[in-house]
Amino acid sequence: MIVIKISAVVVGLTVAYFIGKRIVHNSRRKKLLSAALPEEYARIIERNVPLYRRLPDSLRQELGGLINVFLAEKHFEGCRGLEITDEIKVTIAAQACVLLLNRKTRYFPKLRTILVYPHTYVAKTVSSEGPLVVEGRSVRLGESWERGPVVLAWDSVRGGTSNSADAQNVVIHEFAHQLDQENGDVDGAPALGNRSRYGAWAQVLSAEYEALRKKKETRSRSVMDKYGATDPAEFFAVATETFFEKSGQMRKNHPALYEELKDYYKLDPAEWE
Ligand SMILES: [Zn+2]
Repeated sequence: MIVIKISAVVVGLTVAYFIGKRIVHNSRRKKLLSAALPEEYARIIERNVPLYRRLPDSLRQELGGLINVFLAEKHFEGCRGLEITDEIKVTIAAQACVLLLNRKTRYFPKLRTILVYPHTYVAKTVSSEGPLVVEGRSVRLGESWERGPVVLAWDSVRGGTSNSADAQNVVIHEFAHQLDQENGDVDGAPALGNRSRYGAWAQVLSAEYEALRKKKETRSRSVMDKYGATDPAEFFAVATETFFEKSGQMRKNHPALYEELKDYYKLDPAEWE
């Protein structure tokens, strides 16, 4: 009897502890969301993130709050001797947070750490071909792990921000993978909220993915980078880069895909231009 009572007290205290922790956490987030971005950070973003210059004023303000939360909750680590500066943190955070604007967000819940290399890096790869395990090396601009870090090469990040209309943006690409990973499988379908939305999403994205694969095979011109024809997860990441950086072209040439992404991101970037 005493044992049952003690267990009940322990469970009660544990629940109270976690509720208390959540309340403190939420109120800290609320403060960060409403706080203005330090001026120095705003200057870095103006300088380094062309996408920011296209944002309507109300979204710019919201982005500032999201960046505050991101910087407070995520840890940056420099690799190969790279020293993490405010410029690196803020340039990456600003672009990642564009993906969180204007909708209920969980702030990339599985992500704790962002590793930044100075340059494009070479990673060891392992794949299987039948009974064989093949090890190779591949040059990476960035990568996103389901329960691990996002890895980025700073020179690729800077390259991606130098042209805001080429749909080559490694930060947007890797953080789109993070959104895809939020609900478990990395399959090109992020959490869409309403169950009824998955049917239309699958139909539109599968058709567009197949069309891109055909274009790759026949070497035809395409608004979207053909790297998106690799698999459905890469298709979603590439489609997201195109949605934000070639918004007008995507709306004109791929209206159904544009509408699905507009519905998911709750943003209409073609109207920003
Ligand atoms: Zn990718």
